[in-house]
Amino acid sequence: MPEQTTSPQLIPTTYVQVAVPVPMRQLFTYQIPLDMQQPSIQVGERVAVSFGKRDVIAIVLSITNECDVDVKKIKPITKRLNDSFHLSDSLVGFLNLCASYYHHPIGDVFQQALPKLLRQVKKLDIQPPMVWHSQDRTETSQEQLDKIAKRAPKQYALFQLIDKHQGIGWAELRTLGYSKAQLNALTNKALIKEIKQKPKKFSWQEQALAQENKQRLSTAQAIIVAAINQSTEQFSCHLIDGITGSGKTEVYLQAMENVLANNQQVLVIVPEIGLTPQTLLRFEQRFNVPICLHHSNLNDTERLDTWLSAQQGCAAIIIGTRSAVFSPLHQLGMIIVDEEHDSSLKQQDSFRYHGRDIAILRARQLNIPIVLGSATPSFESLQNALSGKYQYHQLQQRAGKSSKAKIALIDVAKQQIEFGLSGSLKHEIKQTLARGEQVLIFLNRRGYAPAINCQECHWLCDCQRCDKPYTFHQKQQLLICHHCGSQKRVPRQCPSCGSVRIAPVGQGTEQLEQRISDIFPDVSVVRIDRDSTRKKGELTKLLQEITEKKHQLLIGTQMLAKGHHFPDVTLVAVLDGDGALFSFDFRASENMAQLLIQVAGRAGRASKPGKVLVQTSYPDHPLLQDLVHNGYQHFAKQALIERKQALLPPFSFQALIRAEANYPSYPEKFLRTLTEQRLTNCEFAGPLPAAMGKKAGKFRYHLILQSKSRKELHIAILQLLNAIPNNEWQHKVRWSLDIDPIDLNW
Ligand code: ADP
Ligand code: ZN
Ligand code: ZN
Repeated sequence: MPEQTTSPQLIPTTYVQVAVPVPMRQLFTYQIPLDMQQPSIQVGERVAVSFGKRDVIAIVLSITNECDVDVKKIKPITKRLNDSFHLSDSLVGFLNLCASYYHHPIGDVFQQALPKLLRQVKKLDIQPPMVWHSQDRTETSQEQLDKIAKRAPKQYALFQLIDKHQGIGWAELRTLGYSKAQLNALTNKALIKEIKQKPKKFSWQEQALAQENKQRLSTAQAIIVAAINQSTEQFSCHLIDGITGSGKTEVYLQAMENVLANNQQVLVIVPEIGLTPQTLLRFEQRFNVPICLHHSNLNDTERLDTWLSAQQGCAAIIIGTRSAVFSPLHQLGMIIVDEEHDSSLKQQDSFRYHGRDIAILRARQLNIPIVLGSATPSFESLQNALSGKYQYHQLQQRAGKSSKAKIALIDVAKQQIEFGLSGSLKHEIKQTLARGEQVLIFLNRRGYAPAINCQECHWLCDCQRCDKPYTFHQKQQLLICHHCGSQKRVPRQCPSCGSVRIAPVGQGTEQLEQRISDIFPDVSVVRIDRDSTRKKGELTKLLQEITEKKHQLLIGTQMLAKGHHFPDVTLVAVLDGDGALFSFDFRASENMAQLLIQVAGRAGRASKPGKVLVQTSYPDHPLLQDLVHNGYQHFAKQALIERKQALLPPFSFQALIRAEANYPSYPEKFLRTLTEQRLTNCEFAGPLPAAMGKKAGKFRYHLILQSKSRKELHIAILQLLNAIPNNEWQHKVRWSLDIDPIDLNW
């Protein structure tokens, strides 16, 4: 028996096992000093502990009166923190599940799931959030409003939103594209005011639903809503495979009604919220309930506010990017994952979780329905739907009046190309512009040119740290490596032959934007990519200008391909449709098909029919042919047959171990040593150099583990993890583990 039974204390010592924010796959034991034992400590509580030389926040995961570690070595916890930030048992259970599924250090999982302010030891000063309300109406204010309605429609729309919602925060208004200046203008006219408001628990009221915005569902939509609502008290997973504009969002909105009316919360996960103010607007217009946003553009306080409103049940709907899946929702009744195929739902560093997959885990844990939606479902989800694991719903018609866009290929090999545009494409663009409609040109390459070279000896200017060409950015007059970010001036002379004839090769969006004005001099061109939208708020502004038809030609990278609705775009041109036709990654064709179909989905959303033109050098390629003539579903089903024959995911399960070091032999040997392990029903592929074999000066290697059984894959991973402490190369490399990897390039 431990010594404490003979000590003079009557209360037995309490020990806690806690998750500490360090990259170690274990818990740590601390003792609770006597003066901190009341009230009794709970699982999920935040405590401060000293770890190494610092004080850190740890989460209590188990409590015991006994301890099998040397008692003298156990340190006491330093402090118990403010009690209102407990993690619920359900959230603790969920995070434990995540850590064990991804074999990721538990402390890091908790760390990533908590807002930054809750990870700091210092005392929190929680203030009720500031929110906007409308002022009581007077005769003068009514006159003011009538004037605003005529002269400043945007300001008027802002007023209406605030007037309807009474208590909307700046984070939401900002996302919807409103500015501080507009708020100030309304404040100065005494129409609205900003107040501190203590959040209160949300409860459903009749008028919370804006009936007037509801669409009458088509039969196909109604069947889906009914299927989802049939089982709100139990786990069920629904995949809505519906083309862009087929009414998936309308289905989400109507399926949510029941859940909200039951005073339960809904979590909506989207790939990148900065890109979808339209989504938020539709939720705001439909439901007059507190909606909170969760995404990377929030500051620390806003993040904490969202966390608290979820936890206290004040927020009815949380819309957020992948990490919103960790929101401490206290009455969660339904999860929706929109654009479930999107790769940005997967975190690609440290804790490599897939937002969709763990959303499913959470729904299962809570026994609630989850709805996945996409116009281009991931093969994983599609296979689960086809095999009956998920309920499969299809929407193959555009809702309302609009018709489906037609896709056609343009063979560039047979035509003269000017600035990347073929003659027939130019003709189509001209006609579309002449009709007063907008054109979207998709080119997935930002910068001015993807490389520069010497025109005499063909020397190519490579980044030495990545062995890949530098991208030329003309506006900044800089060469930038898009892999490691390193920058360099353009050399005056070729280091190889001394020639001064150094010139850009190929075309990026920056160049296209400049050049296209030569062909279409009288139209306004806007470019949307990471460079043109770096400034905060710029993207929202540009999108707004597009909607207002200030620009006729839209040039963009995949940023433009996602989720936006451009009702007046009737022609989408894909300049280079060949990008992934010949990649070695087995997912490349899936990704390319998804991207093409998603871009195509931007065309003809309103009542005007749309057209999609894809330039290619391989118009006979079976993949393109299948996609164009038979659509994504057919293409995907064919590809699934091939995956099955090759025993590739989703017909097998993979884990990827990546290793990198300054010398190529280290990662190679580290991984090779791992392959000496004998595994059951699990195979190794590799070690091999990664496709991006060198990045930022580090050499990178891969080892893939594959098994037909998920269970056996996990057993094998545990075996490998146990073997790593004895691997003599382990300290010479940086390694990481990726369960269900989706990017095999790195
Ligand atoms: P998705 O999410 O699949 O892209 P949406 O739900 O956004 O589709 O619907 C596309 C457009 O069609 C929207 O403007 C929406 O209001 C409208 N819509 C959706 N369902 C219906 C319906 N049943 N009747 C009429 N219009 C509809
Ligand atoms: Zn040269
Ligand atoms: Zn580089």
